[in-house]
Amino acid sequence: MARTVLVTGGGTGIGRAIARQFAALGDDVVVTGRRAGPIRALAEETGARALVCDHTDPAAVEHLVGLLPGTVDVLVNNAGGNTDFDADGAGGLAAYARDFRANLDANLVSAALTTKALEERLVASGSVIQIGSIAAGQGAGSYGAAKAGLIAWNLDLAKGLGRRGVTANVVAPGYVATTEFFRDRLTGERQDALVAATSTGRAGTPEDIAGAVLFLASTAARHVTGQVLQVNGGAYTPL
Ligand code: NDP
Repeated sequence: MARTVLVTGGGTGIGRAIARQFAALGDDVVVTGRRAGPIRALAEETGARALVCDHTDPAAVEHLVGLLPGTVDVLVNNAGGNTDFDADGAGGLAAYARDFRANLDANLVSAALTTKALEERLVASGSVIQIGSIAAGQGAGSYGAAKAGLIAWNLDLAKGLGRRGVTANVVAPGYVATTEFFRDRLTGERQDALVAATSTGRAGTPEDIAGAVLFLASTAARHVTGQVLQVNGGAYTPL
């Protein structure tokens, strides 16, 4: 039976690959993003439903939830990115606070708001999947802190939802090329270093991450919850 799947930030990159893979299975997919263009393009391609939403804004999230069906099977909290790429680093402590909070909002609060708003509507045997990052174990300032926070928050979420048969997990990608994540800020040298850190000798693809997400949402993964699934080609292995 077709599942209802919400993929936040589903118009580009990793979210787009996730949405495409669920749509290919025949699921009813809803994709969100702040820009209408990318999500509409994906909707035309896959038949997914496109809804504009800024997941850092509680009112926008409440509005979104009002447009969704009564029940949701799979929630993928993928929207996010390193907002420091858009910050100039100038302006003293007030600017530092603003920029730090921007990363927490974009990557942690966005997922928490969306999940809170949808929690009661998740079906038994449903799944919540957060897109974390290798940065949670490696630093990267407020971005890494936000992605590390996702892991701690997800633990309580998994405990709270477990008795209902709903799982909650984090998929933590390593370096994934071909998304909008890095803008034009990644030098060739840095790209080479990120690839060299892997055991596989290549960058990750959005499809690599989507495969892990689809597994966690599948019937095969009903006893997997509260976990972090690293998808990084062996670049980082927490003990
Ligand atoms: P992209 O920038 O291509 O995708 C991010 C998507 O999220 C965009 O479609 C963007 O659309 C949307 N988005 C961002 N903020 C919001 C918001 N507040 N509300 C709604 N939508 C939002 O990059 P990736 O595909 O690489 O990133 C996807 C996820 O993967 C992110 O959480 C990122 O942190 C994580 N990640 C990526 C890695 C990589 O190497 N690429 C590595 C590790 C983790 P719009 O601007 O229209 O809102």
